[in-house]
Amino acid sequence: MGKRYYCDYCDRSFKDDVEARKKHLSSLQHMKNRADHYSVFKDPETILKEECQKTPCKRYMTIGDCAFGLGCRFSHYSQHMISVLERLVATKNSKDITSPKGGWPNTEDIIKEYFENVTDSIDTEEFNYPVWSTPSQLLDYPNLPASLWPGTAESAASSNFSKWG
Ligand SMILES: [Zn+2]
Ligand SMILES: [Zn+2]
Repeated sequence: MGKRYYCDYCDRSFKDDVEARKKHLSSLQHMKNRADHYSVFKDPETILKEECQKTPCKRYMTIGDCAFGLGCRFSHYSQHMISVLERLVATKNSKDITSPKGGWPNTEDIIKEYFENVTDSIDTEEFNYPVWSTPSQLLDYPNLPASLWPGTAESAASSNFSKWG
């Protein structure tokens, strides 16, 4: 019986020859498992920084699944998850100041909080949609272009889209 190569990331073994190993190491499944494996050890700051630089993965956002997993070069993090991460980082940093060892919020609390908030997050102050307020100087300006008029929910709803170029 020949030697067998065992892949820790994929938790499987196969015949150990150069061809098979090469093929395995470049397989999508292996790369995904490897990325998943390492992402466990990433700290939230790193994840946050990386995810903010990526554009959202269209596939993941529309069908909720993507074969690339955490190895995907697009972000699988929703706006809500990003805000949870930001809070996590902020909490960690604030704790770093008070305790020299640095304190981590309880992981279970974060997960619980995430799932509790996921349904009603739209009504909470966490979601601060930017509000455009027209500077008062602009309101006195004659012949203000329509694009600078104060936007209201009504004006948005009554827009005549079919007339737009
Ligand atoms: Zn593997
Ligand atoms: Zn993806």
